[in-house]
This record gives sequence, structure tokens and C-alpha cells, in this order.
Amino acid sequence: MIKKDVIIIGAGASGMMCAISSGKRGRSVLVLDHASNIGKKIRISGGGCCNFTNINTDHTNYLSNNPHFCKSALSRFTPRDIITLLEKHGVKYEERELGQLFCARSSEEIIKVLENEFRKTDVNIIMHCRIQDVRKEEKQGTFIVTTSHGIFESDSLVIATGGLSYPQIGASGIGYTIAEKFGLRVTELRPALVPFIFSPIDKKIFSELSGISIDAAIKCNDMKFRGNLLFTHKGLSGPAILQVSSYWKDGDAISIDLLPEIDIFDILLKKQQSKSKVDIHNLLSEYLPTRFAKIWFAQNFVSKPVKQYNEKELQNIAHQIHNWKIIPRSTEDYRTAEVTRGGIDTDELSSKTMESKKVKGLFFTGEVIDVTGQLGGYNLHWAWASGFVAGQYV
Ligand SMILES: Cc1cc2nc3c(=O)[nH]c(=O)nc-3n(C[C@H](O)[C@H](O)[C@H](O)COP(=O)(O)OP(=O)(O)OC[C@H]3O[C@@H](n4cnc5c(N)ncnc54)[C@H](O)[C@@H]3O)c2cc1C
Repeated sequence: MIKKDVIIIGAGASGMMCAISSGKRGRSVLVLDHASNIGKKIRISGGGCCNFTNINTDHTNYLSNNPHFCKSALSRFTPRDIITLLEKHGVKYEERELGQLFCARSSEEIIKVLENEFRKTDVNIIMHCRIQDVRKEEKQGTFIVTTSHGIFESDSLVIATGGLSYPQIGASGIGYTIAEKFGLRVTELRPALVPFIFSPIDKKIFSELSGISIDAAIKCNDMKFRGNLLFTHKGLSGPAILQVSSYWKDGDAISIDLLPEIDIFDILLKKQQSKSKVDIHNLLSEYLPTRFAKIWFAQNFVSKPVKQYNEKELQNIAHQIHNWKIIPRSTEDYRTAEVTRGGIDTDELSSKTMESKKVKGLFFTGEVIDVTGQLGGYNLHWAWASGFVAGQYV
């Protein structure tokens, strides 16, 4: 049986950062992963350019049963720290909207950085490795991990197996199973940052709008996001929709302001007062995509020349435009969700070290914990930060 100081299950962003951070402290580290390559999610993230952090990162960008849990790790591994690491390796990056930092060339470069960093340390990696059993030898206080590649023993065990999203590239629920085996609570799990699917009625009406995008403000359960809303053949997607999906539960309505910059009532009223003969859906086409304006208006109202409406009717139309309510049937599920909301209950872990309070030497990092970032580089930043701090204590 091979013995190491640290075994890390999961060679994704947080597992690799933890390996580097602990390896630099002189710990002997073994990383085990069932996938063919390290960092598969890093590779596909940000459309292949990896939105690797956000310069505005703070705890308010995260959902968790305990919104304060992430504070400590975020303060000890900041966006500046990941930027410094990437700059050291010559990775070029660019700032896009809202403080989001992306690789200027390819996310592949970040994976190369991680590989170059761990090669300087006593870190070994076994890929294509199936985990068969994990247990703790209470007498020795060590962990025994039985795998398709042999049995390994370590003083510390780090579970960095991510969430359930994108099972097609290796995501699995093993992290939650291991937590439960050791008696740790797991909060409710849900797909997040995920497109919505229309109800059958909405699908019938709106599916022909597939491909149309609108700059909107979208609200759900008191959270409001501004950005693009995209019609798909199944429902709604786009950055603003993905953001609200993390706050959505079955049966909730989402409220869409189709013209957040404009007071459409004021415009309609002026046209009515000037006795405009323009049909109202044609007038709306000046502000919204033509096909959308036509279908949306026909669904809600009868279109006629603006001068034929009274003030109350115009008020009602304006209200619908600024508060269009939709109740999605569901989300698209983990196959297309960027992340999993929920995870290992933060009450079970030390926010300073990511170690289990019940099981000494057992650590969790990254998405497997009940800390879920909004869209914009926050999830990868949490993976780096939690992996880094755990690496300081394993
Ligand atoms: C399409 C997509 C785009 C994204 N884009 C961004 C972005 O631009 N910015 C951002 O901040 N976040 C993005 N995310 C989210 C981000 O990639 C994740 O939150 C982050 O990678 C989580 O890191 P992690 O280390 O916790 O888990 P992961 O990176 O998921 O790593 C988990 C590792 O565990 C391994 N594993 C799982 N189960 C087992 C098992 N049974 N046995 C052995 N090994 C196992 C996996 O193979 C994997 O290597 C995106 C996600 C997706 C799906």
C-alpha cells in the first residue's frame, strides 16, 4: 500500500489548486481522478476562454445557507493572487464586462500553468482511476482509498469532486456520497446557472422566436439581473436568465422588464396624444425585435392604431412590457447547468481550513461545498480559493 501525506480526489480547479498549495509546503500528494485529463471543466469554461476570476469578487456573489462561510477563504486567496500566478506564466487575459477576467487566448493555458506548478512539487496524479471505497482507519487516524489502480493511504483526504453538472465530462455525486458516509449533512442539490424550459403553452407560442435575444432586466425571488435574454427552441437562456435560475424554485414566476431603459408608457401616451395612426405592435418594433413584438403583443393584446387606445389601456400595455411574467416548466437540468446549487453543509466544515468538524483530516473544496457563485468567474474563483486554503492545512 502506498502512503502519502495527502490524497485528493478530483483533478479539477480546486483539487489542482489544493495539490499545488500543499505540494509547495512539502507535502507528498496523490491526486486521483476517473477522467482522462485534468481540468476538463476549466477547458470548456467561458466558451473555451475560461472566465477564471472576477475582480469584484466578494461574499455577496455567492449563494449558500451560510453567506458568511466563504469570506475567510476569499480574503486569503483574492483575484490578485490568481492573476499573479497566471502573469508569472505569461498568460494573457482580458477584462470583459462587470469585472470578468477571461484568457485572451485559450483556457488550455490555465491547465498548463497548473501542470507546470505541480511538477515543481511532490504531486503525483493518476487519471482513469475509479474510486471503489473510502474509509478511515480509526486507530491510525489515516484514510484508506481503494481504487482500480490499487489501495492508497493518507493522513489527509481532500474531496474535490465538484458538482453534478455536465455528467457527460465526468461529473458525479461521489463527493456527496463520501460526505454522507462520514455522517456529514448535504443540503438540497439543484441545477443552477441553467436555461429554463417553457410550459407547453409558452412553448407553442414562443418557440418560433428561437435565436432572438433581448437586453432585459429579469427578477426572481427579489434578485434582479440585467443582461441578455435568449429565446431557445425549448425555452429561455442567456446570461440574465442563467443568473436568475440559481434563485428559482419549481412554480416560481420570473418577471421580465423588456425595456429596462425606457418609460414605454410615456412614449405610448405621447403617440396617442399626437393621434398616431401607427399600429401599436409596429411602434413597439422600434424598441424590440420585430418578430418578438408581433408575437408577444398578439398574445397579450389586440393591435390597433395607437390613437384608438385610452390612457388606462396604454398603462396596462406598458405594465406588461415592464413586468412580463412567465412561469417556466422547469430548468434544463444538470446536462446543461454550469453548476450545482447546494452541497456539503457549511456548518459541517471549518471556514478557515475546509476541514470537517466531525472527521479530522477530511477536507472538502470547490463546488462540492454548499457555496455557489453567480455567473461571472465567481465559481472558478471559489474553487481556487477553497483549494488554496485547504492546501495550507492538509
Ligand atoms: C460549461 C461550463 C462553463 C463554465 N464556465 C465557467 C466560467 O467561465 N467561470 C467560472 O467561474 N465557472 C465556470 N463554470 C463552473 C466551474 O467550471 C466549476 O464551478 C469549477 O470547475 C468547479 O471546480 P471543482 O474543482 O470544484 O470541480 P470540477 O472542476 O468539476 O472538478 C471535479 C473533478 O472531480 C472528478 N471526479 C468527479 N467524480 C469523480 C469520481 N467518481 N471519481 C474520480 N474523480 C471524480 C472530475 O473528473 C473532475 O476532474 C462552468 C461550468 C460549466 C459546466
